[in-house]
Amino acid sequence: MRINLISLREKRFKCQQSGNCCCDPNIIVTLTYRDLFQLFITQERDFRLLLQKISFYTLDSRLSSQVQKQMVLNPIQTTKGKVIPGLKKLSNNFCIFFKPPNCVIYSSRPLACRNYPLAFIKERKEMISIWAKDSQESCPGIGKGTILSTMYIKRLGKQFFKETEEHNKVVKELNIEASQGRPLAAREALWVLVTYGESKQSQK
Ligand code: SF4
Repeated sequence: MRINLISLREKRFKCQQSGNCCCDPNIIVTLTYRDLFQLFITQERDFRLLLQKISFYTLDSRLSSQVQKQMVLNPIQTTKGKVIPGLKKLSNNFCIFFKPPNCVIYSSRPLACRNYPLAFIKERKEMISIWAKDSQESCPGIGKGTILSTMYIKRLGKQFFKETEEHNKVVKELNIEASQGRPLAAREALWVLVTYGESKQSQK
């Protein structure tokens, strides 16, 4: 399907390696099936090690259905309720992979980190690129460097929608099973996503 890109204003960005996004208490890096498989590889394919880097963020049941609809990744219904896997944060709010001033998994960093500070919205056949929430206040790279090309932004956006839609399809199947009385434990659901990521990788 052809998607048009609407970029409301020219966007200039160059990462200043401030690490602000990696230790912002308000940012949770949620993980797609592809992110989880990439992380699994960085953890030497040791599922126990992977689990040590992940948190299962639970949804506040008071969130309105409107807010839930706006979430990029759908929550998974598990034996412990609705959860979304994300990177663990340390008590000082640092991402578990942030060793100042660097990300120690930079080349395998998750989709959300690769896109930051950009975010994308889809409306019908149009893809709109915006700055991520609060990024203009906290990210010193915005407004620096060269203008991001339309081709670059479009590539990121297409990958974003492809990956998140694929992820949500898998979650939908898990949630159908759960609604029929067969919810998985959170770690079992995580394993399903990792193996799905592996199967997709081997098809390439
Ligand atoms: S994975 Fe890397 S880039 Fe992403 S928040 Fe953690 S340290 Fe930062």
